Amino acid sequence: MKKGSKTYSILTHKCPRCHTGNLYFTPTLSFRRPFDMPDTCSHCGQRYVLETGFYYGAMFVSYIMTAFLMFSMFAVCKFLLGLDILPSFILVTIVIFSLYIWIFRTSRAIWINFFVKFDKKYV
Ligand SMILES: [Zn+2]
Repeated sequence: MKKGSKTYSILTHKCPRCHTGNLYFTPTLSFRRPFDMPDTCSHCGQRYVLETGFYYGAMFVSYIMTAFLMFSMFAVCKFLLGLDILPSFILVTIVIFSLYIWIFRTSRAIWINFFVKFDKKYV
């Protein structure tokens, strides 16, 4: 994956404008300050909160991601593994809870990438 695509910015949680600065203070798996973002990019100075309440829209992205993941996992549990409803529900719930921080961060990365474009002069 190379710089310049939105996929790179979203999956690596990098600044949408320069693809160099980090969107979060800590890596996803550190579990230390998992929801804290800097105010601006450390590399190019892009503001990460474009307006008050900017990330409310990320909740819809998170909802869509979670619903898609849950339906996909239920389908795999039901049709490929042949599990009943209760074991499927427990398995899907465990997976979704373990992915919670990643889903939260990725939905914010997707949301800011809707509004901020990559710019080569900031790389
Ligand atoms: Zn930046």
